[in-house]
Amino acid sequence: EWLEKPGTQAVLSMLTGAGHHALAVGGCVRNALLGVPVTDVDIATDALPERVMELARAAGLKPVPTGIAHGTVTVVSDGEGYEVTTFRHDEESFGRHARVSFGATLEQDAARRDFTMNALYADASGAVVDPLGGLPDLQARRLRFIRDADARIREDYLRILRFFRFHAQYGDPEQGLDPDALAACADHADQLGTLSAERITAELKKLLAAPDPAPAVAAMAQAGVLRQVLPGAQAQALPVLVHLEGDKPGGFLRRLAVLTPDIGTLRLSKAEARDFDKLRAAFSGMDSPAALGWTLGLRLGTDALLGRAALLETPPAPDWRAGVMRGAQADFPLKPKDLMPMLLGPALGLALSRAQKHWLEHDLQPTRDELLALLGLA
Ligand code: ATP
Ligand code: MG
Repeated sequence: EWLEKPGTQAVLSMLTGAGHHALAVGGCVRNALLGVPVTDVDIATDALPERVMELARAAGLKPVPTGIAHGTVTVVSDGEGYEVTTFRHDEESFGRHARVSFGATLEQDAARRDFTMNALYADASGAVVDPLGGLPDLQARRLRFIRDADARIREDYLRILRFFRFHAQYGDPEQGLDPDALAACADHADQLGTLSAERITAELKKLLAAPDPAPAVAAMAQAGVLRQVLPGAQAQALPVLVHLEGDKPGGFLRRLAVLTPDIGTLRLSKAEARDFDKLRAAFSGMDSPAALGWTLGLRLGTDALLGRAALLETPPAPDWRAGVMRGAQADFPLKPKDLMPMLLGPALGLALSRAQKHWLEHDLQPTRDELLALLGLA
């Protein structure tokens, strides 16, 4: 159990033992209640950051001032980092540069979060504290802004994307999104351009890794949000998103490649950008299922076929799965030594790539002898 881990208990008791409030908060409580694995535990406390530092040192835990200005100290306990954040209260907020003050109550701390299901707390014993009625929303898998959607969005435009992202992850797909919240998202969609590419990318990655992001993405398109973050997005591929293994590591990329021909301002790693380009090239090419299985491997090859079919709005050949599988397991029948000593150096490389191109264009059917004949070496 996530809350019973010695590391978690040590951080909570170092604070409560000194007479402070200390509760797990946000994603960890939400996920635990949903039965979703808890990856990291955030802790809220009424102790001021300096006090958290002091208590952690006294308890033999390592405090790292990762975000002192926002009231956050990361405490390393039993090998894991815990973000301990002092109860905060937004004084007045314009965009991201809200003035925060400490010494707030738990209720005020809850009120400055984004959605009711993200404003749940749990004490060390596991008792849930729900100051804003997030539990019934969570049980109904209903994403609701805290109080007024329009006001919450004006405080931080990233919440527009978080609204669709959390709906995709934890909302009820049968249930539509709250019309007032959607209207507020639409009203402020043009402000998304003011956010950093990193923050936008992080939210879109999580959105696209949800089991089926299509309903949320469709709602984004309708609210005019999608074109702000992915100007090239093409809605016709939405239904196939669910088949593209987005929940596997790096899987968001397959969905992204189907959704848009260009990544706009998103920030991808070099490896991600390379896979994105491979997939887009496969979508526009004519390679057979076997050829794609050989060049891209089983998973990327499968996605390339499904994505291409969705974009062309044409189903792939009936036996395509077997084809990708055959390609993924195939060995190119010519080895460099087959061409030596007749060819060497650049001539050898050219001949091999010519033979390989022919082999791929002919569905991996040509045999070693046929390829040697093609090269005039039989
Ligand atoms: P995840 O599983 O994706 O980490 P999470 O709920 O933990 O989900 P985080 O972005 O890690 O999401 O944020 C932790 C908590 O901090 C949220 O549950 C929410 O209460 C609060 N929070 C984070 N970002 C915002 C924001 N932009 N506006 C308001 N509250 C926020
Ligand atoms: Mg989190």
